[in-house]
Amino acid sequence: MLKRFFSYYKPYKHLFILDFTCAVVAGLLELGFPLAVNQVVDKLLPAGNWTWILWACAGLLAVYGLNTVLNFIVTYWGHKLGINIETDMRKKMFDHLQKLSFRFYDNNKTGQLMSRMANDLLEIGEVAHHGPEDLFIAVMTLIGALLLMLSINVKLALLTFVIVPVLLWIAVYFNQKMTKTFRRMMGDLADINARVEDNIGGIRVVQAFANESYEKKLFEDNNGRFRITKLLSYKIMAWNVSLSYILMRLVTVFVLICGTWFVIDKQISYGEFIAFVLLTNVFLGPIQKINNVIESYPKGIAGFKRYCEVMDTEPEVSDRPDAVRVGHLEGHITFDSVSFGYGNEARVLNDISLSIRAGETVAFVGPSGAGKTTICSLLPRFYDVNEGSIAIDGLDIRRIQLESLRRQIGIVQQDVFLFSGTLRENIAYGKLGATDAEIWEAARRAQLEGYIQSQPKGLDTVVGERGVKLSGGQKQRLAIARMFLKNPPILILDEATSALDTETEAAIQQSLAELSQGRTTLVIAHRLATIKNADRIVVVTEQGITEQGGHEELIAVGGVYSRLHQAQFSS
Ligand code: ADP
Ligand code: MG
Repeated sequence: MLKRFFSYYKPYKHLFILDFTCAVVAGLLELGFPLAVNQVVDKLLPAGNWTWILWACAGLLAVYGLNTVLNFIVTYWGHKLGINIETDMRKKMFDHLQKLSFRFYDNNKTGQLMSRMANDLLEIGEVAHHGPEDLFIAVMTLIGALLLMLSINVKLALLTFVIVPVLLWIAVYFNQKMTKTFRRMMGDLADINARVEDNIGGIRVVQAFANESYEKKLFEDNNGRFRITKLLSYKIMAWNVSLSYILMRLVTVFVLICGTWFVIDKQISYGEFIAFVLLTNVFLGPIQKINNVIESYPKGIAGFKRYCEVMDTEPEVSDRPDAVRVGHLEGHITFDSVSFGYGNEARVLNDISLSIRAGETVAFVGPSGAGKTTICSLLPRFYDVNEGSIAIDGLDIRRIQLESLRRQIGIVQQDVFLFSGTLRENIAYGKLGATDAEIWEAARRAQLEGYIQSQPKGLDTVVGERGVKLSGGQKQRLAIARMFLKNPPILILDEATSALDTETEAAIQQSLAELSQGRTTLVIAHRLATIKNADRIVVVTEQGITEQGGHEELIAVGGVYSRLHQAQFSS
């Protein structure tokens, strides 16, 4: 774990060494004051030599001046080191999140992941800076102080040191307790974020059902849990602070008693006595510091552990080393004995075999939940098949480089996701960097041109979060415009017009018909009127593909399709 953490320091070796060196020197310079006092009291004071005393003070000032500079460097450059590492980790995490597969997102909450990105990494930055440096300085100052104390009087020093192991044990004990608590706390905070994300995202549903008080209660549960964990952490902290405080004060009193006795006994001089008392404080400082690190260190480590959990999740679908980049595919698709399930439950698809010619339009019909969407999700490898294989133009899709595969497939779904931004940005998502002329052309073909022209701001019209400011038909047309820009050889229309009224649907059908020209098209539709033009109809039921053929052919067979047809058109 620690080794992995330090690997993030690698790009900033120089910064780290600079910060570290300054910190060490600054730590050692702290020892200067007791030494100076010792000299002044024992040598310069009895001699009554003012010039020398002033010189000593000037020297001390110089040391403090140097220390100021060093502290500046440690504070500023050290934090720079911390934020650099934090930024790197955040970037790596974001990059990794882009790669993780659908199944990961099926099983994780958006708000929780956001919490990891934002809160957890914040704590890491603090530790990345303070962790190693504080610990090291603390140890350096501790050792320096110990040596000096030993040089003053071995017996007195050894008596004082007895307390060190006890103090360190307390530090370690509470550290462990705190790491656990902070981990829980971050989990609780992530739950709060997930709750808020869910609530705000669904606020329209909440208000439509008038379920605000129910939502409030859910939120209060999360909020209360966080408070309790946080209180627990404060309690541990308070115990830690109090225990170490009283122990340290015991040491001070102890040194005062023993020191006085040693002075009376003429074992040490006045100057040495004062220096020893001051050194005791210098030496307790680092222990206090180690204790303070206890506050930030467990937070950082807990955050880092949560970070690693995400980073260690391998993308389920990824490129094989021998993956090939494909240019333009023809779009000849074959499913060969494909079986697939989402989890441990029963398989959704069992032994599906199907061949689709390049340029063919195939319609999938069948009861809801039969697996039509699932069949289409396998093609862009949102999930990988459990058994069997899928090939495009004779090439197993697992051998095709993922990015190039997905560039060949366009999907229009029932609910269109728009990014908050302008119409231009959202349409151009189909082809990043598309010119305005291209965007207008795509809009025209998708029958969106009129709407854009009617808007005062035209393409710069803001669509609202997830496109709330557009109607269902407008969103669907926008999605189609995106596809005209993307221009993929394979097209999947998954209930693309199911949510629309029949009039809008009929209008959009025209655009869709134009869009599917010259492309292999997989259409899923539950309104059979929209698929009459398909070259072939494939009926998918829980038993798999049960019928396929032309419209007339299937009506003649008198199976599932004819029953569906009758149900829809008899009324
Ligand atoms: P259709 O599109 O034919 O209505 P789907 O392919 O969406 O059906 O779903 C087929 C089955 O797979 C359903 O029983 C559904 O509950 C299940 N399913 C769909 N998506 C997921 C998912 N992401 N995780 C787990 N099960 C899923
Ligand atoms: Mg579906």
